[in-house]
Formats: sequence, structure tokens, C-alpha cells
Amino acid sequence: DNSATDSKDLRAKLVLLGDSGVGKSCIVLRFVRGQFDPTSKVTVGASFLSQTLALEDSTIVKFEIWDTAGQERYAALAPLYYRGAAAAVVVYDITSPESFSKAQYWVKELQKHGSPDIIMVLVGNKADLHKNRHVSSQEAQEYAEKNNMVFIETSAKTADNINQVFEEIAKRLPRPTA
Ligand code: GDP
Ligand code: MG
Repeated sequence: DNSATDSKDLRAKLVLLGDSGVGKSCIVLRFVRGQFDPTSKVTVGASFLSQTLALEDSTIVKFEIWDTAGQERYAALAPLYYRGAAAAVVVYDITSPESFSKAQYWVKELQKHGSPDIIMVLVGNKADLHKNRHVSSQEAQEYAEKNNMVFIETSAKTADNINQVFEEIAKRLPRPTA
């Protein structure tokens, strides 16, 4: 029975990928609970949270968010999470070139094995640590453009641009044809 939900409401499976420690769990926590916990625990395997977002046209998007663990030993599990996902958020830390390389690995992985119409967002997190920046915005922007991705720099700590990540995805979700 669908009577309680508006026909234009959307549901979207979303997966976060990226090196361990880049802030994936903090981004999700900021979006879902509006909080930042600097002592947040390392994600084991993957965790699931859902959150709705109301758009300007009053459409409600329900995000089903899979927050994966970045460690190598879980890499083989990643396809379980990105398969069938409408959107993938690939996160790196702007202070860590290694994490940017790892992000590029995930992008290639998604291009090879993800759904061909998956919405991909490249997120440079920890923008509040700009004094220690080691990945330039321009380099990341160019990479994102080449790979048909949306690019956003965020801070889960200050909440900068966190909602924008989900709004950009929501805008691009396929709408049901009436
Ligand atoms: P994950 O392994 O990608 O899920 O990373 P976490 O979300 O567990 O975050 C790893 C560490 O980075 C934690 O110590 C967080 O407090 C810190 N962190 C996460 N996001 C930010 C941010 O935007 N700014 C700063 N300064 N630290 C952050
Ligand atoms: Mg985590």
C-alpha cells in the first residue's frame, strides 16, 4: 500500500567509498544527525543509515546510505554496497594526496563494475584544514570533470557543504515518468 507516500517521492540507495579516515562516517553523521563527533569509531564492514531530504519542489527523497569501511580487507565487499546504488560518494581528505589516489581507484572500480548511470560525486573533505591542504581544488575539479562527476569540498566538522552533497545527488536522480 502506497497511499501514505506521494507518488513523486523518491528513494535512492547511496554508497560512500574512500580511504579509511577521510571522514565518510562523519559526513553521514553530520547529514543524518547534524552532529560531529571527533571520537567517532572506525567503521567495521559497513553501516546503514537512512535520511530523508525535502527538495524545493516538495519532493521527498529517502536516502538509504551505506557507509563502507575503507580498509583493504573489506575491499572485496564493496561491490555488495555499490551494486544497484543510484549514487556513489567518493571521499578523500584534502590534506592527503594518498587518499586522493585512493579515490581515483574507487572511481575506476565504479566505472568498471557500477551501474552505467550511477551518479558519482567526488568529495574533498576536511576543508576546514585548508592550511594543511595537499590536494588542490583545481586538480580535483579537473579530475571530476573528466570523469563526469560532481565535485564538492566539504567539512563534516563545520558542516560546510554537507547538505549540498545530498542535494546535488537528489537533483540528478531520475524522476518517475507520469
Ligand atoms: P572514515 O574512516 O572515512 O569513516 O572517517 P571518520 O568519519 O571515522 O573520520 C576519521 C577522522 O577524521 C576522525 O578523527 C574525525 O574526527 C576526522 N574528521 C572527519 N571529518 C572531518 C572534517 O571535516 N574536518 C576535520 N578537521 N576532521 C574530520
Ligand atoms: Mg567510517
